Amino acid sequence: MDVPPNQVIRFIQLGLKDDVEKATGPWFCAACLVCQTRCPRGVDIPRLMEAVRAIHLRAKEGLIDVSEVDKEFLMDAPPLALISAFRKYTY
Ligand code: SF4
Repeated sequence: MDVPPNQVIRFIQLGLKDDVEKATGPWFCAACLVCQTRCPRGVDIPRLMEAVRAIHLRAKEGLIDVSEVDKEFLMDAPPLALISAFRKYTY
């Protein structure tokens, strides 16, 4: 992650929309929930990362056109990776 989740949240708090849009952190978040379980304030960071991704997707940024994905790649890719990618990059 170029910008860690806590910094993305700070950007959101400060209204730094451009910095949030440029951050790759939300796209690397695996929703493993580690940060959420460790956060002393109970901040649901994975949900915030999901919200940032959803905002991008609603603006039609970073979408995958499944018809353009290489068929051999689809056959060889781990199913969990495909499910995760399609969940994040399609709608
Ligand atoms: S849910 Fe996991 S991957 Fe996502 S920001 Fe938290 S610790 Fe990182």
